[in-house]
Amino acid sequence: MALRKIIHDGDPLLRKRSREVKEVTDHIRGLVDDMWETMYDAGGVGLAAPQVGALRRVIVIDVTEPEDEEEDDDAEQTPPEIIKYVLINPEIMEASEETVTAKEGCLSVPGMSGIVVRPARVKVRAFDIDGESFEVEGEGMLAKALLHEIDHLEGVLYTDIAESVEENKPEGADE
Ligand code: ZN
Repeated sequence: MALRKIIHDGDPLLRKRSREVKEVTDHIRGLVDDMWETMYDAGGVGLAAPQVGALRRVIVIDVTEPEDEEEDDDAEQTPPEIIKYVLINPEIMEASEETVTAKEGCLSVPGMSGIVVRPARVKVRAFDIDGESFEVEGEGMLAKALLHEIDHLEGVLYTDIAESVEENKPEGADE
């Protein structure tokens, strides 16, 4: 595995449509390994291949809730539900008419965040790392991540569709 460089808004590669993956080869598996490492290193919850300069329809998402450190020791510890996916050639099958308005950021647009309106629920079909077809239905963080990352495959950044975009407050940077 290796860390890859995350490219930033202004790089023309982020504006291109990514190509379908015809077969899950070692090359694609290596790309996915590197994407996981790069995403976790950057503290992100999702990453699309074009963000590391690879114009392939591959995304990784991990929206597992971090464990609550302030939980009472006597309370029964329930491990967080792992919500983690590799999606190859993802396709949106259904998107709810109901929308949610939420804050969004992007590793390719550092230091900024914006308010984005997106469908509240989506159903996506994709291939996994073994080349098996699967479907995922998501709401909340998962829906937001799926839609945000799939947009990257079309060369779309959240800043294109955001109601507003602003610089992150300095207080946030200290946390
Ligand atoms: Zn992004």
